[in-house]
Amino acid sequence: MKVTNLDERIHVLDGSSNVMTVVKDIALSGLQEEAFYVLDIGDIVNKHQIWKEKLPRVQPYYAVKCNDSLIVLEVLASLGIGFDCASKTEINKVLSVGVDSSKIIFANPAKPASHIRHAAAVGVDTMTVDNESELHKIKKLHPAAKVVIRIRCDAEVAQCQLGMKFGCDPIYEAPNLLRIARMLDLDVIGVSFHVGSGCQDPPVFHRAIRHAKILFDLAIDLGFKPYLLDIGGGYPGNKGTSIDKIADVVNKAIDEYFDTDAVHIIAEPGRFYVASAFTLATSIHSKRSVRGDENCPNVTTHNMYYINDGVYGSFNCLLYDHQHVTPLPLKDGCGKMIPSSIWGPTCDGLDQVVDNILLHEMELGDWIIFEDMGAYTLPVASPFNGFPVPKVHVVADESIWLLLKDALPLTEDHFVIGNTPANLRLGLDIGGTDIDPWSNPAIQLSQAEMLTDSPNDSPTFIYDYVEIEPLN
Ligand SMILES: *Cc1c(COP(=O)(O)O)cnc(C)c1O
Repeated sequence: MKVTNLDERIHVLDGSSNVMTVVKDIALSGLQEEAFYVLDIGDIVNKHQIWKEKLPRVQPYYAVKCNDSLIVLEVLASLGIGFDCASKTEINKVLSVGVDSSKIIFANPAKPASHIRHAAAVGVDTMTVDNESELHKIKKLHPAAKVVIRIRCDAEVAQCQLGMKFGCDPIYEAPNLLRIARMLDLDVIGVSFHVGSGCQDPPVFHRAIRHAKILFDLAIDLGFKPYLLDIGGGYPGNKGTSIDKIADVVNKAIDEYFDTDAVHIIAEPGRFYVASAFTLATSIHSKRSVRGDENCPNVTTHNMYYINDGVYGSFNCLLYDHQHVTPLPLKDGCGKMIPSSIWGPTCDGLDQVVDNILLHEMELGDWIIFEDMGAYTLPVASPFNGFPVPKVHVVADESIWLLLKDALPLTEDHFVIGNTPANLRLGLDIGGTDIDPWSNPAIQLSQAEMLTDSPNDSPTFIYDYVEIEPLN
């Protein structure tokens, strides 16, 4: 596949580079002002290795809504992973990467009619259902569909609960849906659930798998031949988290209830695969120091930092995904810690990233890094108020290049070898032709008024202060 968007290419790092050195190279180049991401492909590959090791019987179908960056989909496809899509557009995006329609599950239990028709047309047959009218819709629009009944079984503690919107009651509703599907002569192939995103209640997987087993038995009694158990999403993905406890519960439960190769087990992990692969770098463009009371007006009691990404951009995850983020100043600080808050760039008072934290004094142009920014950030971000969604710089070390360079849909073409600063600066926001307003022939400027690009200056050259005469 030809790579048309140069920004999507993977920069192969030499042995002395890693995500943090790349962040520093770009941030401290003196040429970068906008916030940007560094995506480490190796982190995604590593997650896949963990998954295969911990959940060997469970085949992952990545939940596209979590992060639908093309490069993420390509990498996951190259690893042979399937995909969970919720809409026609997501299905098309996954198909465009070259994934076979049999590796897609349409896992939205409430689907618009045109999307079902589209699924039928492109051969996406497996789809989840949690209500009677959906069964009738499918009967009409895609009668050969492979129906998966989605039941509700909620984690007691989860970052995002889903049960109030999706999943039928496994005891009171699901049996009825099975009977209706039988009357409609639809093909029910299995059961799915989603315990809630960011699940902190591993035993819930046991309860859910037990419910699924009961419904498998009922389905067999009704004449179906169910063979698919879909254990949904919910697995954590941040640095320092682990899926060990969930994997333990899942493995025991599938041994207990589905100890047969005749049942195919899949899951729909989203955040597990991408959360830690994305690191966001933001810079401080404004600062307000709140001074103390009338007795000591010169003492800063609180610093407010305004950075170039906020809750309308990447940090929408604070509102929609209930995430907590940790700011990491790029420079080592010194002096005493000052109570601080961090704000996004828009003019909305709601646009706050961190509300109260102790930080060393920072200045305009300093950078603040946020790790674990890959899940439920970019696909939701908007350029509200004219602040752009950060660009993504994609990197991988040499071993990943050797592993993936011929793993379709990835090709040699996807990789850029040689970690030169010029390579890494591909796509920086200063230095490209599109950001050169001074070349507009309609505006005539004298030589002195033109900005000159002086990359050898210190990185802080943008912020030259004018000395102010003291007032008498
Ligand atoms: C969002 C979603 C997922 C992914 O959930 P994670 O908690 O990110 O793993 C999986 N399946 C369905 C149906 C979803 O809606």
